[in-house]
Amino acid sequence: YYNKNTIVFKDGRMIPAAEAMSSDYTQTLHYGNGVFEGMRSYENAEGCNIFRAREHFDRLAYSADRMQLKMPYSPEEMVQIAYQLLDENHLHNAYIRPLVYGGMNMSLEPSDECHVFMAAWNWGKYLGNDPLSVMVSSYQRPNPKSTIIDAKIVGHYTNSILATSEARKLGYDEALLLDMHGNVAEGPGANFFFEKEGILYTPPAGHILPGITRRTVMELAQELGIRVVEKFFEVEEVYDADTAFFVGTAVEIAPIAAINGEKLKGTWEDSAGHQLYLMYRQKVRFNEYQGLTIV
Ligand code: PMP
Repeated sequence: YYNKNTIVFKDGRMIPAAEAMSSDYTQTLHYGNGVFEGMRSYENAEGCNIFRAREHFDRLAYSADRMQLKMPYSPEEMVQIAYQLLDENHLHNAYIRPLVYGGMNMSLEPSDECHVFMAAWNWGKYLGNDPLSVMVSSYQRPNPKSTIIDAKIVGHYTNSILATSEARKLGYDEALLLDMHGNVAEGPGANFFFEKEGILYTPPAGHILPGITRRTVMELAQELGIRVVEKFFEVEEVYDADTAFFVGTAVEIAPIAAINGEKLKGTWEDSAGHQLYLMYRQKVRFNEYQGLTIV
C-alpha cells in the first residue's frame, strides 16, 4: 500500500506514510467507531477523474455525523484534498481511502478529538475478473436496528471479515450474506444483483449499504432500457437466475459463476450485467457533467 516515497494526508498535512501514526489508546482501535470510504480514480485525457468523489465524501460526512465524529473538513474540501493527494503521489488510476476516527478516549462516549487520514494506492479490480464461486454465509449482515446500516462504519467490517474468511476456508471466492429475515442482502464489500429473463433484481435499501456503484448501475440500466426491480428475495430465487453479479467501487462489476455450488445457467458475455460493465468502464473515466461517451 505504500513505500518510502508515498505521501498521505493526515490532519491537515501531506506527510510521508511512515510518519502517519496514531496512539494505541485511539478509541476507534478499541471500539470500531470510525468511518471510512473507498473510491477510485480513473485516468482520462485530461489527467484523471475520481468517480463520484462528491457522493463518496457526502456519504463520509453522513457516516461521521451519525457516529458523532466531528469532521473539520467539508465534502468540497475533501474532494480537493483527494486530488492533491493523487498529485503528490503521481497517481492516476488509484484507489482512495479516507478514514475518520476518534481520539485518545477509553470511554464509550463520542470523543471530541477527530482525526482524518487519507491514502491512495494502485489497486487492481478487487476479486479479479474471473466469474466467482460464492457461498451463502452462515453470518447475517448486522441487524439495522443494532447499528446504522447505511453508514460506512469501521466496526461493520468485522462481519465482512468473518464472512470472507469462512468462504475462503471452505474453498469459495466470496461470501453472500443474508439479512436477519433470511433475504439476500449483499456481499462483504459489494452489493448484489441477479438477472432473470432480461430483468435485474436487487435488494432494496434498509438492510444493506446502498452503494454508489449500485446507484450508477441502476442509472445505466435505465439508459439501456433494462428494467431494475428492488425487492426482497430469498437465495432459492437466485438459483433460478440467468446470471448474478456483485457491484462496488473495489470490485466494480464482478460476475458470479455459482452459488453454493449451483452453477447459474446464463452466459455472462450475453448478459445485461456484462453490457453494464462495459458501459461502467467508460463512464467512470469522466466527470458526470461532461456527459457519457460510449465507444
Ligand atoms: N456493501 C458493502 C458492505 C460495502 O462495503 C460496499 C463498498 N463500499 C458496498 C456495498 C458498495 O458500495 P460502493 O458502490 O459505494 O462502493
